[in-house]
Amino acid sequence: MEKTVQLYEGKAKKVYATEDPNLVIVSYKDDATAFDGTKRGTIRGKGSVNNRMSNFLMKKLAEQGIPTHFVEELNDRETLVKKVTIVPLEVIIRNVSAGSFAKRYGVEEGIPFDEPTFEFSYKNDDLHDPLLNTSHALALKLATKDEIETIRTMALKVNEILKEFFLSCGVRLIDFKLEFGRLPDGTIVLADEISPDTCRFWDAKTGEKLDKDRFRRDLGNVEEAYQEMMRRVFGE
Ligand code: ADP
Ligand code: UDP
Repeated sequence: MEKTVQLYEGKAKKVYATEDPNLVIVSYKDDATAFDGTKRGTIRGKGSVNNRMSNFLMKKLAEQGIPTHFVEELNDRETLVKKVTIVPLEVIIRNVSAGSFAKRYGVEEGIPFDEPTFEFSYKNDDLHDPLLNTSHALALKLATKDEIETIRTMALKVNEILKEFFLSCGVRLIDFKLEFGRLPDGTIVLADEISPDTCRFWDAKTGEKLDKDRFRRDLGNVEEAYQEMMRRVFGE
């Protein structure tokens, strides 16, 4: 399948049309942004890491009954996926306090939760992705009640599968963001990506951060952390 026209260029990926109206090609870039796009940089090799890791995880999730957009990895950076209408919600699951949760509620990072938390924000760059509850999402007609229930159930199942998998790689899954989309028949599927850009990964023994926080917080060894996550996942 060949790329035709570019449909969209985002902060981390480009999306291209194909001859098939139901399929698009996503192309992962090395560009990195943080803090609402105010911090910008490049993480060498990130596009390839995120593409390959995301595809590997989506395949694993599909085997366990989670429907996803994944169709075929085309090369290091490019993947053929089912075209969806993205539900404009950034779905966030947390197992341990970190990032905006720790800041918002005035707690330290690293406190494990008895149960994972589920939250979403409105995917809207102009509004800076404000936090939403279900009734707000319904009032704004971002999704139906059934869709939100499906998304919640799927996101929590994704967490159970990924938490266990990453632990087997010596990594704690602290929190992550998911996006879901609608196929033409209305089916909800997992879309976008699952990668060190969208998850917090801490080494299970040392607590070392192996994700985009190294870029956000200028911790150094950013590229090395992405490569280390590849080694953990693929044994490379
Ligand atoms: P952003 O838009 O936040 O800058 P990206 O650079 O990752 O993010 O751009 C990729 C865009 O493609 C995102 O807006 C994402 O919601 C969208 N997307 C992800 N998967 C699909 C898909 N299967 N079909 C259509 N759009 C998708
Ligand atoms: N996240 C993301 N995209 C966003 C916001 C958050 O992928 O636009 C991920 C982030 O990498 C982390 C989780 O979602 O794994 C929770 O992020 P948080 O709300 O703590 O926000 P942040 O600290 O990134 O501002």
